[in-house]
Amino acid sequence: MRVDVLTLFPAMFDGVFSASILGKARDKGLVELNTVNFRDFARNKHNTVDDYPYGGGGGMVLQAEPIFLAVEELTGALSASRKPRIILMCPQGEPFSQRKAEELSQEDHLIFICGHYEGYDERIREHLVTDELSIGDYVLTGGELPAMVVIDSVVRLLPGVLGNETSAVTDSFSTGLLEYPHYTRPVEFRGWEVPEILLSGHHANIEQWRRRQAIWRTWRKRPELLEHVSLSDKEKRWLEEQIELLSDTTE
Ligand code: SAM
Repeated sequence: MRVDVLTLFPAMFDGVFSASILGKARDKGLVELNTVNFRDFARNKHNTVDDYPYGGGGGMVLQAEPIFLAVEELTGALSASRKPRIILMCPQGEPFSQRKAEELSQEDHLIFICGHYEGYDERIREHLVTDELSIGDYVLTGGELPAMVVIDSVVRLLPGVLGNETSAVTDSFSTGLLEYPHYTRPVEFRGWEVPEILLSGHHANIEQWRRRQAIWRTWRKRPELLEHVSLSDKEKRWLEEQIELLSDTTE
Protein backbone atom coordinates (compact mmCIF):
# COMPACT_ATOMS: atom_id res chain seq x y z
CA MET A 1 0.00 0.00 0.00
CA ARG A 2 1.04 3.55 -0.62
CA VAL A 3 -0.07 6.39 1.65
CA ASP A 4 0.43 10.08 0.85
CA VAL A 5 -0.44 12.78 3.37
CA LEU A 6 -1.01 16.37 2.28
CA THR A 7 -0.10 18.56 5.23
CA LEU A 8 1.34 21.94 6.14
CA PHE A 9 3.32 20.25 8.95
CA PRO A 10 5.17 17.22 7.51
CA ALA A 11 7.55 17.13 10.50
CA MET A 12 4.65 16.01 12.70
CA PHE A 13 4.73 12.65 10.90
CA ASP A 14 8.46 11.95 11.30
CA GLY A 15 8.19 10.06 14.59
CA VAL A 16 4.90 8.33 13.89
CA PHE A 17 5.99 7.04 10.49
CA SER A 18 9.39 5.79 11.63
CA ALA A 19 8.70 4.23 15.05
CA SER A 20 7.04 1.04 16.25
CA ILE A 21 4.79 -1.01 13.95
CA LEU A 22 4.46 1.66 11.25
CA GLY A 23 8.23 2.10 11.10
CA LYS A 24 8.76 -1.64 10.83
CA ALA A 25 6.09 -2.00 8.15
CA ARG A 26 7.80 0.74 6.20
CA ASP A 27 11.25 -0.85 6.63
CA LYS A 28 9.88 -4.20 5.45
CA GLY A 29 8.47 -2.51 2.34
CA LEU A 30 4.87 -3.39 3.27
CA VAL A 31 3.79 0.23 3.10
CA GLU A 32 5.16 3.40 1.55
CA LEU A 33 4.44 6.45 3.72
CA ASN A 34 4.98 9.93 2.24
CA THR A 35 4.18 13.47 3.24
CA VAL A 36 3.60 16.33 0.81
CA ASN A 37 3.63 19.92 1.95
CA PHE A 38 0.90 21.52 -0.13
CA ARG A 39 2.40 24.93 0.59
CA ASP A 40 4.90 23.95 -2.14
CA PHE A 41 1.99 24.21 -4.58
CA ALA A 42 1.02 27.78 -3.67
CA ARG A 43 1.35 30.06 -6.67
CA ASN A 44 1.95 33.37 -4.96
CA LYS A 45 4.91 35.35 -3.74
CA HIS A 46 4.38 34.57 -0.06
CA ASN A 47 3.42 30.91 -0.49
CA THR A 48 0.12 31.42 1.28
CA VAL A 49 -2.46 28.65 1.05
CA ASP A 50 -5.32 30.29 2.96
CA ASP A 51 -7.48 33.36 2.50
CA TYR A 52 -10.39 35.26 4.05
CA PRO A 53 -13.83 33.67 3.76
CA TYR A 54 -16.25 35.09 1.20
CA GLY A 55 -19.19 36.51 3.07
CA GLY A 56 -17.05 37.52 6.04
CA GLY A 57 -16.74 35.86 9.41
CA GLY A 58 -13.81 34.72 11.49
CA GLY A 59 -11.00 32.36 10.58
CA MET A 60 -9.11 31.63 7.40
CA VAL A 61 -10.06 29.13 4.71
CA LEU A 62 -7.69 26.78 2.88
CA GLN A 63 -7.70 27.54 -0.81
CA ALA A 64 -8.67 24.91 -3.35
CA GLU A 65 -5.81 25.34 -5.81
CA PRO A 66 -2.74 24.19 -3.82
CA ILE A 67 -4.60 21.11 -2.64
CA PHE A 68 -5.90 20.27 -6.13
CA LEU A 69 -2.41 20.72 -7.61
CA ALA A 70 -0.78 18.54 -4.95
CA VAL A 71 -3.29 15.74 -5.48
CA GLU A 72 -2.99 16.02 -9.26
CA GLU A 73 0.77 15.70 -9.06
CA LEU A 74 0.31 12.44 -7.14
CA THR A 75 -2.42 11.03 -9.36
CA GLY A 76 -1.76 12.63 -12.75
CA ALA A 77 0.03 9.70 -14.33
CA LEU A 78 -2.29 7.04 -12.92
CA SER A 79 -4.93 5.34 -15.08
CA ALA A 80 -8.60 5.74 -14.06
CA SER A 81 -8.67 2.20 -12.63
CA ARG A 82 -5.74 3.00 -10.32
CA LYS A 83 -7.16 6.19 -8.85
CA PRO A 84 -6.58 6.33 -5.10
CA ARG A 85 -9.07 7.07 -2.36
CA ILE A 86 -8.73 10.75 -1.46
CA ILE A 87 -9.66 11.24 2.17
CA LEU A 88 -10.49 14.59 3.71
CA MET A 89 -10.06 14.72 7.48
CA CYS A 90 -12.85 16.85 8.95
CA PRO A 91 -15.10 16.88 12.03
CA GLN A 92 -18.22 16.66 9.86
CA GLY A 93 -17.03 13.51 8.03
CA GLU A 94 -18.22 9.93 8.41
CA PRO A 95 -17.32 8.69 11.90
CA PHE A 96 -14.21 6.53 11.55
CA SER A 97 -14.63 2.90 12.61
CA GLN A 98 -12.87 -0.44 12.51
CA ARG A 99 -15.12 -1.40 9.59
CA LYS A 100 -13.86 1.62 7.65
CA ALA A 101 -10.26 0.72 8.54
CA GLU A 102 -10.86 -2.77 7.14
CA GLU A 103 -12.36 -1.29 3.97
CA LEU A 104 -9.45 1.11 3.45
CA SER A 105 -6.88 -1.64 4.10
CA GLN A 106 -8.05 -3.29 0.83
CA GLU A 107 -6.90 -0.27 -1.22
CA ASP A 108 -3.53 0.13 -2.96
CA HIS A 109 -3.22 3.86 -2.53
CA LEU A 110 -4.64 6.36 -0.04
CA ILE A 111 -4.23 10.13 -0.04
CA PHE A 112 -5.07 12.05 3.14
CA ILE A 113 -5.74 15.78 3.24
CA CYS A 114 -5.11 17.47 6.59
CA GLY A 115 -6.91 20.75 7.14
CA HIS A 116 -6.14 23.70 9.38
CA TYR A 117 -7.71 27.01 10.29
CA GLU A 118 -11.47 27.45 9.92
CA GLY A 119 -11.87 24.92 7.15
CA TYR A 120 -11.51 24.14 3.44
CA ASP A 121 -12.86 25.76 0.33
CA GLU A 122 -16.01 23.73 -0.28
CA ARG A 123 -14.94 22.89 -3.86
CA ILE A 124 -12.31 20.52 -2.42
CA ARG A 125 -15.08 18.59 -0.71
CA GLU A 126 -17.36 18.68 -3.75
CA HIS A 127 -14.95 17.94 -6.58
CA LEU A 128 -11.80 16.27 -5.29
CA VAL A 129 -12.31 13.90 -2.40
CA THR A 130 -13.79 10.42 -2.30
CA ASP A 131 -14.24 10.17 1.48
CA GLU A 132 -14.63 12.51 4.45
CA LEU A 133 -13.61 11.08 7.81
CA SER A 134 -13.98 12.30 11.38
CA ILE A 135 -12.26 10.63 14.32
CA GLY A 136 -14.87 11.84 16.80
CA ASP A 137 -17.23 14.57 17.85
CA TYR A 138 -14.63 17.06 18.99
CA VAL A 139 -12.49 19.61 17.18
CA LEU A 140 -8.70 19.47 16.90
CA THR A 141 -6.49 22.22 15.55
CA GLY A 142 -5.51 20.27 12.45
CA GLY A 143 -6.04 17.08 10.47
CA GLU A 144 -2.59 15.61 11.20
CA LEU A 145 -3.47 13.75 14.41
CA PRO A 146 -6.72 12.39 12.90
CA ALA A 147 -4.84 11.24 9.77
CA MET A 148 -2.24 9.48 11.95
CA VAL A 149 -5.02 7.69 13.83
CA VAL A 150 -6.58 6.44 10.60
CA ILE A 151 -3.27 5.48 8.97
CA ASP A 152 -2.14 3.55 12.05
CA SER A 153 -5.35 1.56 12.23
CA VAL A 154 -5.30 0.79 8.50
CA VAL A 155 -1.62 -0.17 8.21
CA ARG A 156 -1.76 -2.61 11.14
CA LEU A 157 -4.35 -4.58 9.15
CA LEU A 158 -2.08 -5.09 6.13
CA PRO A 159 -0.82 -8.66 5.70
CA GLY A 160 2.53 -9.21 7.41
CA VAL A 161 2.48 -6.00 9.45
CA LEU A 162 1.55 -7.51 12.81
CA GLY A 163 3.83 -10.31 13.98
CA ASN A 164 0.92 -12.49 14.98
CA GLU A 165 -1.55 -12.54 12.07
CA THR A 166 -4.46 -13.45 14.32
CA SER A 167 -4.08 -10.55 16.70
CA ALA A 168 -5.92 -8.08 14.46
CA VAL A 169 -8.72 -10.60 13.95
CA THR A 170 -9.63 -10.76 17.64
CA ASP A 171 -9.21 -7.04 18.32
CA SER A 172 -12.09 -5.12 19.84
CA PHE A 173 -14.65 -4.20 17.12
CA SER A 174 -13.24 -6.63 14.51
CA THR A 175 -15.40 -9.37 15.97
CA GLY A 176 -18.21 -6.91 16.67
CA LEU A 177 -17.46 -7.36 20.40
CA LEU A 178 -15.03 -5.69 22.75
CA GLU A 179 -11.99 -7.87 23.32
CA TYR A 180 -11.74 -10.36 26.20
CA PRO A 181 -9.26 -9.70 29.08
CA HIS A 182 -5.58 -10.62 28.77
CA TYR A 183 -3.14 -11.78 31.43
CA THR A 184 0.57 -12.52 31.38
CA ARG A 185 3.19 -13.63 33.92
CA PRO A 186 3.29 -13.77 36.91
CA VAL A 187 0.33 -15.99 37.82
CA GLU A 188 -0.08 -13.98 41.01
CA PHE A 189 0.56 -10.26 41.25
CA ARG A 190 0.00 -8.49 44.60
CA GLY A 191 -2.42 -11.22 45.56
CA TRP A 192 -4.47 -10.98 42.33
CA GLU A 193 -4.49 -14.24 40.42
CA VAL A 194 -4.88 -15.11 36.76
CA PRO A 195 -8.23 -16.89 36.10
CA GLU A 196 -7.56 -20.58 36.50
CA ILE A 197 -9.12 -21.54 33.20
CA LEU A 198 -6.34 -19.74 31.32
CA LEU A 199 -3.79 -22.05 32.95
CA SER A 200 -5.77 -25.21 32.20
CA GLY A 201 -4.37 -25.82 28.72
CA HIS A 202 -7.91 -26.77 27.62
CA HIS A 203 -8.26 -24.79 24.39
CA ALA A 204 -11.97 -25.26 23.81
CA ASN A 205 -12.82 -24.13 27.34
CA ILE A 206 -10.46 -21.18 27.05
CA GLU A 207 -12.11 -20.16 23.76
CA GLN A 208 -15.55 -20.36 25.35
CA TRP A 209 -14.42 -18.35 28.38
CA ARG A 210 -12.91 -15.66 26.15
CA ARG A 211 -16.00 -15.43 23.99
CA ARG A 212 -18.22 -15.12 27.06
CA GLN A 213 -15.94 -12.50 28.60
CA ALA A 214 -16.10 -10.54 25.36
CA ILE A 215 -19.91 -10.73 25.32
CA TRP A 216 -20.13 -9.73 28.97
CA ARG A 217 -17.73 -6.83 28.58
CA THR A 218 -19.58 -5.58 25.55
CA TRP A 219 -22.91 -5.78 27.37
CA ARG A 220 -21.52 -3.83 30.31
CA LYS A 221 -19.52 -1.19 28.45
CA ARG A 222 -21.06 -0.81 24.99
CA PRO A 223 -24.42 -2.62 24.96
CA GLU A 224 -25.47 -1.03 21.66
CA LEU A 225 -22.73 -3.03 19.87
CA LEU A 226 -24.51 -6.29 20.74
CA GLU A 227 -27.35 -5.36 18.38
CA HIS A 228 -25.06 -6.22 15.47
CA VAL A 229 -23.58 -9.45 16.86
CA SER A 230 -25.26 -12.80 16.38
CA LEU A 231 -25.20 -14.79 19.61
CA SER A 232 -26.09 -18.47 19.77
CA ASP A 233 -29.16 -19.46 21.83
CA LYS A 234 -26.81 -20.85 24.44
CA GLU A 235 -24.89 -17.57 24.61
CA LYS A 236 -28.12 -15.59 24.88
CA ARG A 237 -29.29 -17.78 27.77
CA TRP A 238 -25.89 -17.43 29.46
CA LEU A 239 -25.99 -13.64 29.10
CA GLU A 240 -29.51 -13.46 30.54
CA GLU A 241 -28.35 -15.53 33.51
CA GLN A 242 -25.42 -13.20 34.11
CA ILE A 243 -27.67 -10.15 33.94
CA GLU A 244 -30.02 -11.75 36.45
CA LEU A 245 -27.13 -12.63 38.75
CA LEU A 246 -25.90 -9.06 38.55
CA SER A 247 -29.30 -7.59 39.36
CA ASP A 248 -29.61 -10.01 42.33
CA THR A 249 -26.29 -8.83 43.72
CA THR A 250 -27.05 -5.14 43.21
CA GLU A 251 -30.55 -5.24 44.71
N1 SAM B 1 -14.39 24.89 11.55
C1 SAM B 1 -14.28 23.48 11.36
C2 SAM B 1 -15.60 22.82 11.75
O1 SAM B 1 -16.30 23.37 12.57
O2 SAM B 1 -15.88 21.72 11.23
C3 SAM B 1 -13.15 22.90 12.21
C4 SAM B 1 -11.80 23.11 11.62
S1 SAM B 1 -10.50 22.39 12.58
C5 SAM B 1 -10.05 23.71 13.63
C6 SAM B 1 -9.17 22.33 11.47
C7 SAM B 1 -8.94 20.97 10.83
O3 SAM B 1 -8.65 20.00 11.81
C8 SAM B 1 -10.09 20.39 10.04
O4 SAM B 1 -10.17 20.95 8.76
C9 SAM B 1 -9.72 18.92 9.99
O5 SAM B 1 -8.76 18.63 9.00
C10 SAM B 1 -9.06 18.72 11.34
N2 SAM B 1 -9.94 18.13 12.35
C11 SAM B 1 -10.32 18.72 13.52
N3 SAM B 1 -11.10 17.91 14.23
C12 SAM B 1 -11.22 16.76 13.53
C13 SAM B 1 -11.90 15.53 13.76
N4 SAM B 1 -12.63 15.33 14.83
N5 SAM B 1 -11.79 14.55 12.82
C14 SAM B 1 -11.07 14.76 11.70
N6 SAM B 1 -10.40 15.91 11.44
C15 SAM B 1 -10.48 16.90 12.33
